[in-house]
Amino acid sequence: MNRAQGQGMREQRFDYVLVGGGIASVSAARSLRHEEPGASIAILCGEPVLPYRRPPLTKGFLTGKVGAARATIHPADFYEKQSIALLLHARAAAVDRAAHRVQLADGSAVGYGKLLIATGASPHMLKVPGATLAGVQCLHDIGDAVALRADAVGKRRALVIGAGFVGVEAAAALRELGLEVTLVERGEQMLPQLHSALLSAHFRKLCAKHGVEVLTGLTVERLTGHDTLTGAVLSDGRALACELGVVATGVEPNCAWLAGNGVELADGVLVDECLQSSDPDIYAAGDVANFHDPMLGARRRVEHWDNAVRQGRLAARNMRGARMPYRDVSIFYGDVFDVPYNFLGDPFNALEVVERGEFPQRPYSLLFMRHNVLRAMFSIGAPADEAVAAEEMIRHRRNLASSGAALKQVGSRLGALPSQTVLILQGGGALGAFESGAIGALESHGVRPDIVSAVSIGAFNGAIVASHPGHAVAVLNAFWHELSIEGLAAPRSCAHLWQTELAWHLALFGVPNFMRPRWWMDAPRIGSFAPWWTSYYDTQPMLALLRRYVDFDALAASPTRLLLGAVEVASGERRIFDSYVDRLTPEHLLASGSLPPAMPWMTVEGRAYWDGGIVSNSPSNLFEVMLRRDEIVYADRVRNDLRFEENANDFRDLVERITGQLDAAAAARARQSPEYIRLMCNHAPVQIHRIALEGATMDSVTFARDFDFSAESIASLQSLGRAAALAVLDMGEAKLRIGQTASDYEGEVCK
Ligand SMILES: Cc1cc2nc3c(=O)[nH]c(=O)nc-3n(C[C@H](O)[C@H](O)[C@H](O)COP(=O)(O)OP(=O)(O)OC[C@H]3O[C@@H](n4cnc5c(N)ncnc54)[C@H](O)[C@@H]3O)c2cc1C
Repeated sequence: MNRAQGQGMREQRFDYVLVGGGIASVSAARSLRHEEPGASIAILCGEPVLPYRRPPLTKGFLTGKVGAARATIHPADFYEKQSIALLLHARAAAVDRAAHRVQLADGSAVGYGKLLIATGASPHMLKVPGATLAGVQCLHDIGDAVALRADAVGKRRALVIGAGFVGVEAAAALRELGLEVTLVERGEQMLPQLHSALLSAHFRKLCAKHGVEVLTGLTVERLTGHDTLTGAVLSDGRALACELGVVATGVEPNCAWLAGNGVELADGVLVDECLQSSDPDIYAAGDVANFHDPMLGARRRVEHWDNAVRQGRLAARNMRGARMPYRDVSIFYGDVFDVPYNFLGDPFNALEVVERGEFPQRPYSLLFMRHNVLRAMFSIGAPADEAVAAEEMIRHRRNLASSGAALKQVGSRLGALPSQTVLILQGGGALGAFESGAIGALESHGVRPDIVSAVSIGAFNGAIVASHPGHAVAVLNAFWHELSIEGLAAPRSCAHLWQTELAWHLALFGVPNFMRPRWWMDAPRIGSFAPWWTSYYDTQPMLALLRRYVDFDALAASPTRLLLGAVEVASGERRIFDSYVDRLTPEHLLASGSLPPAMPWMTVEGRAYWDGGIVSNSPSNLFEVMLRRDEIVYADRVRNDLRFEENANDFRDLVERITGQLDAAAAARARQSPEYIRLMCNHAPVQIHRIALEGATMDSVTFARDFDFSAESIASLQSLGRAAALAVLDMGEAKLRIGQTASDYEGEVCK
């Protein structure tokens, strides 16, 4: 849509307005359309052209190999088909937060329900004499690239100021166009973002090999010429002749237009880990977002394409009411003199650097370590699996102390290093006693999980395991003892009487220390069900019990990571609470373990949650299948994952066949892109050991097994769990490598 059409839409209101026509907005718009077909969505694009990809501007677009059409993100009809109003040349000038209205520079206004700020960044201008001479320019948008390409024609010498990614790539492209190029960098190292003297030296050699002169530790003092650039004087007094000057000295976020409207700003729009600003209806994503990164525990801004893609998508989901934190390790990718590379993580503060391979031969990688934990990886030609293995190591902060030698070996693969043991604990009320028995057997055989991923009753067991690593059994036994219903009068052998008594007991008294019937609390006020009830039981007793049995300080410091699944009631979104990131409380555990309608939702940070099992498990409503329901429901997730993996493998084969038909350089470039890496990785090999309550062993437990907290059933389930775990240990002894340190185990153990 052009500007005139945009003006015709004066005062129009949209459910979602995305300011900025870059990839963060486009990704957000796509996600919004996908998830909310009826929503009205507008992108306010400050530039007069369709949203485009910036990465080619310093590469193929500058050299002329990539045309404008290939640089656009989507063709014009994409926005029409998706009913996304794309307003070109629509520069936002202010936001009236009270009226929920964006004021445009041309005087028109657009109303919004939720607003995304995705205005990216603008290049720093050089502030030296001669900076405005003809022939001096930045390289940030498509107009800059078109002008630079035109300007380069017939010129002999170029000066590129700044040896960050943009400067180095621009220098390489200009050299490819046949110019003599000098690259000047104020710092001592090239690519200062990488904090690596070694990589700086490698890139310096690569530049020298291709005839680019690199001068570090020097600044440009002035640019010379009458109207047009003819030379430069550097801080050491030397004079350079040049007719073309490219300023690549970094960027600053485009947020000045928001100043004074109450949205908090500081080197970008300040947002929390869910990308929400100080105004709950305003979010930010991409280069302009200064976000709290829970992975690093610090605020930062990231200037990567992949980061903008992922933040745009996440902001869309959160604008729709979810509250998902940003927990991605984004991948930067680049290409200098046909050396495509990528970079992930944050090398800042790394204490050790492990070099694998020979730069720039493929595969090559540089691992940035701190206290045996991988913080960042630079790589050339690393397979997708390798990049994803690194990403997961960074995200999960895996301790690689025992793999130090293997890491340095030529040809060793990160993905092949001993992986982690994940204990997956699923739900099922009283069936959690089975898990506690199984955990006891695993612990007695020295199996210690690196990660416990848990939901529902598994969340309670998991928190005890993670807060007492290696010595959880006694605590678990005491915990389950407190949950047991003692002293039922009917004999167990008389099933009908037993079940009737149990049902009456549950209805009248609930489960001690877990949940008590609501009528206990409300009885003085009412005679039966009350309209304000949202559950049959109240779970305050469990909160008190968890405070006694889970050591929450130890959990926060525990090397065993606890991941809890819960579902947000308002949005139906799954949420993972993570002990490495979130400060977990009894409420978090109960949020994961509140199965409706028996239990009420639990509120965490102002949001209501239910048991995470209700999303992935869709229980049947046929009474006849109730007895088998729980096993099927709680094991279904694992089966689905395996089916999905089969389809994914077919898809990967197809993409690889297509990529294999590209020329070698194009294929190498494609294989370095974040999209390829994420789609094509096969992930680390996973061994799944299921420790499950099998149908044949069910005779000893009653019909309402998930509510049967009778002392007899709890004891029976615990011994079944122990026996089932021992059987699996017997079968998989060699694979589980029992007796080694936690991070050395491979495989998963799940109920
Ligand atoms: C030359 C260049 C090469 C790059 N190469 C790579 C690379 O190889 N690999 C990589 O990972 N990353 C690369 N990047 C970084 C990557 O392109 C950015 O991180 C990404 O484009 C950020 O996306 P964004 O949507 O946040 O912002 P942008 O892409 O900057 O888009 C923001 C848009 O908002 C517009 N805007 C600004 N203010 C307003 C306003 N008030 N109203 C309306 N619109 C406004 C801007 O004009 C712009 O069109 C490169 C960047 C540049 C500049």
